[in-house]
Amino acid sequence: MQEKIEKIKSVLQNSKNIVITVHSSPDGDALGSALALSNILIQLNHNVTVISPNSYASFLSWMNGNDDILIFKDNEKESIRVTRNADIIFILDFNHLSRLGDYSNIVRESKGYKIMIDHHQDPDLGIADVIISDSKSSSTCQLLFNVIDYLGYKKLINKDIAECLYAGIITDTGSFKFSSTNSETHIIVSKLIDFGADNSKIHDLIYDNFSPDRINLLGYCLNEKMKIFKDYNSAVISLNDDDLNRFNFKKGDTEGVVNYALSVKDVIFAVFIVEKEGVVKLSLRSKGNFKVNEIAKKYFNGGGHLNAAGGISDLSIVETEKKVIDIFKKYKKELLINLKKHEN
Ligand code: 5GP
Ligand code: MN
Repeated sequence: MQEKIEKIKSVLQNSKNIVITVHSSPDGDALGSALALSNILIQLNHNVTVISPNSYASFLSWMNGNDDILIFKDNEKESIRVTRNADIIFILDFNHLSRLGDYSNIVRESKGYKIMIDHHQDPDLGIADVIISDSKSSSTCQLLFNVIDYLGYKKLINKDIAECLYAGIITDTGSFKFSSTNSETHIIVSKLIDFGADNSKIHDLIYDNFSPDRINLLGYCLNEKMKIFKDYNSAVISLNDDDLNRFNFKKGDTEGVVNYALSVKDVIFAVFIVEKEGVVKLSLRSKGNFKVNEIAKKYFNGGGHLNAAGGISDLSIVETEKKVIDIFKKYKKELLINLKKHEN
């Protein structure tokens, strides 16, 4: 680690223009880490641009620096110009360039020095010059806090930066609930509160900020769309375009729906399927040692973490749901064993 930190320090010394990239449809951890880092680098007099491949949920738009984020999809020319001119490109909260969608080739072809800071498994080692990857870290924000500390920039953490990092940690740990949460997570969070993060306000901004449409959509999902498969300790919820239109869907409105399916007693594998403008996307969640990232990779061209993963399907939504139910059946033995293990 020390060697990598020294390398980053020396590259930063000779660089002016910095781009920070995050994965498509960035979540709280992606945006929190990107904006925390940009706020640090701005204090060090760099020209920093955060570029997101596309837009994101409005409950994440309060973080300091949000208004300066460049959305590739809406500003392609400017994004390409800035990326081509970058001396350094930070890759945060993802580890395969494919997660940048149409923006991926622009980053791949840029001559900028690439630094990855991420917590997903199996990084593509060919995409960055320095890779700081720790799949045991609850979030990129937790890992970034340590990197900031090792770089000697901890004194630059102010209330705004602490709040970005706090937002990333709570969204990726389900407010400290997921098994990726460890004692270090809590130690870092206590420091962030000491740096001024208003923890209660941030929970409000992220979790108690539903539009009436969003809460009604959630009610519809739970009341009419959730199917529980008791024999397989599994559950599925699927929504099609018509369902979304009925509730005036806005980006982020289905965030977290899958966790409700997982909160049902004895359910250790939950799947949320959503069809948006013809694209069928899946969110997979599990408890214990049931590895949903392997399922996402094998069946849905995706990936993620042991207990939280995602992917896409080239089948219709109806066929995708059938495929998911076939997977429940195929993994029945593991699902039963894992429930027993999880209970003990
Ligand atoms: P979500 O279900 O919230 O969209 O994603 C959960 C986790 O799965 C995230 O950590 C994310 O990195 C990963 N993930 C989601 N979609 C994809 C995908 O299409 N490809 C890969 N490789 N990972 C994904
Ligand atoms: Mn993350």
